[in-house]
Amino acid sequence: MSWESTAHYYQLLNEGVKQQLGGLHSADLLMRSVDFEQIARWQSEGNWLAAERYLAHCAQSLAAAGAQGLVIATNTMHKVANGIVEACGLELIHIADCTGEVLVNRGMSKVGLMATSFTMEQAFYRDRLTKKFGIDVIVPDAAARKNVHDIIYQELCLGQVNELSRRVYIDIAEQLQRDGAQGVILGCTEIGMLLTESVTEVPLIDTTLVHAQAAVEWMLRN
Ligand code: GLU
Repeated sequence: MSWESTAHYYQLLNEGVKQQLGGLHSADLLMRSVDFEQIARWQSEGNWLAAERYLAHCAQSLAAAGAQGLVIATNTMHKVANGIVEACGLELIHIADCTGEVLVNRGMSKVGLMATSFTMEQAFYRDRLTKKFGIDVIVPDAAARKNVHDIIYQELCLGQVNELSRRVYIDIAEQLQRDGAQGVILGCTEIGMLLTESVTEVPLIDTTLVHAQAAVEWMLRN
């Protein structure tokens, strides 16, 4: 969605394939990059149907160009994933499912979630982790949720990496750990620009890394 995380995905997918196959191998992929301003406007207006229709159209164009599987490179827009999949008929590599699998493998049953307010506050993401994987998902308090959300849209999606905001994110992750989380899901594909395990002791599950790795495995399997 924001090109900042799209660029990161593109790099991770190519690095992942190169690592597995060696030599000059790189990822055989089609990318439909969007103008995020319009999408962010639909999100803040709650016009999810317009966003779904637009992304469904994008996915159809990928299917028509020969794609066999689909990665929606954002957590938030998985809110409308069902409609997108119905429209394009592609197999979806679902970001919450890849994340759930990693959490189960790491033996985590209670985790914190840092993400956009849509992802933290609405049911589509948390419920999937709970119902499919038995994970108890906790979120920061209202003021902290607003901070997490605002830093995503006002800084990270614009490519700004601010040290004060990093401190804010570290404090929020550490509070989630004190509240009982065994780890914290970075449930927004830009958060890894700011928060990594090199700056905190809290175990982090970065959905961009998890999702890109799952996509590499899917590509090489298929
Ligand atoms: N990339 C973010 C996410 O993973 C938020 C922006 C977007 O909607 O794509 O949720």
